[in-house]
Amino acid sequence: MNKPVDKALSSIAQVSYWIKGEKTTGTTTRSGEVTNPATGQVTKQVPFANAKDIDTAVQAAKAAFPSWRDTPPLRRARVMQKFLTLMQENTNELARLASEEHGKTLPDAVGSVTRGIEVIEFACGIPHLQKGEHSENVGTGVDAHTRSQPLGVCFGITPFNFPAMVPLWMFPVSIATGNTFVLKPSEKVPSCSMKMAELFKQAGLPDGVFNVVHGDKEAVDQLITHPDVKAVSFVGSTPIAQYIYETCAKGGKRVQALGGAKNHAVVLPDADLEFTADALVGAGYGSAGERCMAISVVVAVGGIGDALVAKVIEKAKKIEVGPGDKKGVEMGPLVTKAHRDKVKGYIDKGEAEGATMVMDGRGLKVAGYENGFYLGATLFDNVKTDMTIYKEEIFGPVLSVLRVDTLADAIKMINECPFANGTAIFTASGGAARKFENEIEVGMVGVNVPIPVPMAFFSFGGWKQSIFGDYSVHGMDGVRFYTRPKVITTRWTTSEVATTSSLHMPTMG
Ligand code: NAD
Repeated sequence: MNKPVDKALSSIAQVSYWIKGEKTTGTTTRSGEVTNPATGQVTKQVPFANAKDIDTAVQAAKAAFPSWRDTPPLRRARVMQKFLTLMQENTNELARLASEEHGKTLPDAVGSVTRGIEVIEFACGIPHLQKGEHSENVGTGVDAHTRSQPLGVCFGITPFNFPAMVPLWMFPVSIATGNTFVLKPSEKVPSCSMKMAELFKQAGLPDGVFNVVHGDKEAVDQLITHPDVKAVSFVGSTPIAQYIYETCAKGGKRVQALGGAKNHAVVLPDADLEFTADALVGAGYGSAGERCMAISVVVAVGGIGDALVAKVIEKAKKIEVGPGDKKGVEMGPLVTKAHRDKVKGYIDKGEAEGATMVMDGRGLKVAGYENGFYLGATLFDNVKTDMTIYKEEIFGPVLSVLRVDTLADAIKMINECPFANGTAIFTASGGAARKFENEIEVGMVGVNVPIPVPMAFFSFGGWKQSIFGDYSVHGMDGVRFYTRPKVITTRWTTSEVATTSSLHMPTMG
């Protein structure tokens, strides 16, 4: 997608930028198309920002920074509280937009918007969270304290799969701590970000504090090399995360870049089979597998494999696939035709490389929606670690079952996988779970919890190739990422404290 902006396309809605508190179209001549994945129809045209458009957004954010930085945290928190209320009132509308552009079902979209809103709830506590430290008498008549100061203009780049939630991982904490922000959401799902910008203005946010631009690599490259951007938050695939991290680090910018995933669920022979199969079906096929915390690999330990696979088939066969806004539908389409075809290609490869196909979603047709980007739930058994479907992130409704003899074998396999976003263990044994928690080299771990997405007051982030940078998002990592500490050492001379000149290294005490 890289087409001239066609202002004559009147039947197709035009997406705008949000700069300095209002919608604007900018100067770009390039654009992309937003499709409704349920029908395959092009619904919107989205501008792809050029260097001038990007600079306009950054300058708006830069101009708004001094007075927002100096706004008392309590007043910033009051704006967040109003934003929170508006977001709660508009949850269904945001979910509708997410479903329409991404394809996920409405109940799933409501859940993801709700999880994003929890970050705003966390950010409402910023007067407490951003407090500094103070020590009296670090030396005679000398005190020390810290200030936790915002950085300036921050920039967020987000993926297609959570149009509201992933942007919400970033900008509420960044803005609550006194920064200003430019967001570039995925060009495939631009509308939730625009709606959130409108609501934030309605909540009383000064113009220029939060801005939204759209685009592809060209827009991102302008922003990650712009001299006035101080920090960059990225969530997306691993190769792009690594590129963003390296480019920002080279330019001296603070950066956190979260990447792709391959999440394993380990099932021990003592697991509750019914409960575990339900959890695996939900975590594997929910949102058509397009979640960074989706389970894509099941590691069946000991003799549980046959019974587990039978139970998963029994439940997965009942999944209702269709448009996300239709009552009763449990799994929607994939985001684009290109992505659906890519996932299909992985299924072809799995079969060709010798995995046992137990459920094939390739032939699925949804009556009345023949042009939608659908794929049915797919299950492979007897997958091996050298197969492409194991090694690469598929990001679709495809579950791969591998079989091992012991928990130690499962832990070894997971620890050798370069992705390390999330993992889960299903067991009735506290001892086994404790060993797993301790030894597993993955950032987020569930014990009988298939999608262990941390609450907003904890931080979210994987390990290894699933993250580049030292800070996860939201929670206290978010506060630390968007602030820098300044340590101030203070002495006030009084008549009681004698002053002498000394060339020695100063020591206290
Ligand atoms: P993507 O990497 O293709 O795109 C992410 C963002 O980067 C988008 O805004 C896109 O416009 C931009 N982008 C794409 N190509 C670029 C390039 N060459 N240079 C600069 N910017 C570029 O990811 P996606 O397909 O939108 O999302 C799916 C991926 O995101 C999956 O890999 C998934 O695992 C990952 N993800 C990870 C997490 C996490 O928390 N670790 C969360 C959600 C999604």
